[in-house]
Amino acid sequence: MTVKTRKVLRIWPSSAPRINECAGAAYPLTDSVIVVQPSGEPARVGNAIHALAGQIVRENLSNCPDATGYALDHDVLDKVKDITIKGIYAAQMWQEIRGEFDLETVEVEKYSKWMDEEGDGPILRLSGYTDVRGLLLDGVSIGIIDWKSGQPDFEIAEMEDGDGEDIQVLVEKSGSIHQLKCYAKHALEEFPERTLVRLHIGWLSERYYITATYTREEIDAWWDKLQYKIRNWDGKTFAPGTPCKWCRNAIGCPAREKYMGVAVKAFDSYPPPTAGRNGLAQDDPKRYAIEQRLSNAYAQCSVLEAHIKIFKANLKQEVAANGPIPDGEGKALGLINVKGKTVIDPLAGWDKMKEHFGGNESELLKVVTISSSTLTKAIKDRTDRGEKQHAVDHLIEDLENENAVIYTPGYQKFANIKDKRYQPALDI
Ligand code: SF4
Repeated sequence: MTVKTRKVLRIWPSSAPRINECAGAAYPLTDSVIVVQPSGEPARVGNAIHALAGQIVRENLSNCPDATGYALDHDVLDKVKDITIKGIYAAQMWQEIRGEFDLETVEVEKYSKWMDEEGDGPILRLSGYTDVRGLLLDGVSIGIIDWKSGQPDFEIAEMEDGDGEDIQVLVEKSGSIHQLKCYAKHALEEFPERTLVRLHIGWLSERYYITATYTREEIDAWWDKLQYKIRNWDGKTFAPGTPCKWCRNAIGCPAREKYMGVAVKAFDSYPPPTAGRNGLAQDDPKRYAIEQRLSNAYAQCSVLEAHIKIFKANLKQEVAANGPIPDGEGKALGLINVKGKTVIDPLAGWDKMKEHFGGNESELLKVVTISSSTLTKAIKDRTDRGEKQHAVDHLIEDLENENAVIYTPGYQKFANIKDKRYQPALDI
C-alpha cells in the first residue's frame, strides 16, 4: 500500500489579498522565510483599539470604558485620547447594530481554523481571528464586525443602474476584501445551516461603517477562485511589486530580486530630458502629437514614482534584514534612527512656558500656532456625519472674525482635469 502525503499550506486572512495578486506568496520559497509583522506605533495603537472595542462588545457596553490600561499595555500612552475617540465610535456603532445579533452567540477575537482538503494539490489550512462574530436574529445570517483603525480602503460611489436609477455601490481601493471574505468563509463553514454573511466594516477614525452582505454561493465562488490560483500555481510566475512588502518570502524571493534589478536598471539609464518645448505654440501643426507625448510621459512618470516608492520600501526591508549595503567607495547605504516628533501641549504647559519667556505672553503667543489640518481633523472627529464640513466652516469663520487665521500662499500642482476643448460651450 502506498500512502500519499499531502503538503499543508497555511493561509492567513491577512495574506489573502497578497496571495490573490501573487500566488507564489502562498508558498514558503526559501529556508530564510520571515514572518513580517507590522510592529511600529500605528500597529500598536491599532491593537489597543481592537482590545478596547473587544471589551465593548464582550460586555455589551453602551459607552467607551477607560482606555488608559489598553494604551499602557501597548506602550502608546500618549495616544490614549485618539484610542478613546475611536473607542467612543466603536461603542456607538455597536449600539446601532447589536439589535441584529443573538447576543448569546456573539464571540470576540474568535479563532477559527478550516482545512480545504478537496481538489488536487496541497491541503489549504485557513486560520485566523475574526474581530466579532455572532448569529443574527433573522435566522439566516451570520454577523461579522471588522474594526479598522486606519484609513478607509473602500468608498461609496454614486452610479446609475441599468434602468438609469441612482444607486450607491461599494468601490474597493485595495484587495482587503479578500481578508474579510476569509472571515466569511470560516463563519459559513462553522454554521452550515446559515446562508448569508453580513460584514460590518467600521472605520473608527472616520466615524462610519459600511455593511456588505454576501450569499454562501458568492463566498464559495470566491474561495474556489482563490484556491484554484494557489493549487495551480506553476512555481515560477510571480507578480512582484506592492504585495512583496509584507510577504513571508520577501527576503530571498527570486522574482522580487529581479524586480529590484529592473528598477535599478531603469533608474540608472533614464534618459535626460530633450531640449525645447517650441512645439507647444498654439498654431504649431505638431502640437497635438507633442501633447500626446507629454501626456504619456507624465503618465509614465507617475508609474515610475509608484515604482520608486515600492523599490525604496523593499530596499529598506533588505537593509533592515541584511545590514548596510556598501557602495564600494568607502560608504554604505544604511538605516539611521530618526527621532520622533515632539509636540507640546500648550494648555498643560502654558504657565511653565510663560515663566521661561520671562512672563512675556505676547512673545510666547507668536510661537504657538495650530495647523488648520490638525484643527479640522479634531473638529470633524467630534462632529456627526453630514455636519462635519459645516462645523469646520463655522469654526474657521469665527476664528477669522477674531483675526486668528494666518493664510500662507497656495501653490499649483498637477492633476488630471477636464480638457476644456471637449466640453460644450453652453450647458444645454
Ligand atoms: S516576495 Fe513578492 S514576488 Fe515573491 S512571492 Fe512574495 S509577493 Fe510574490
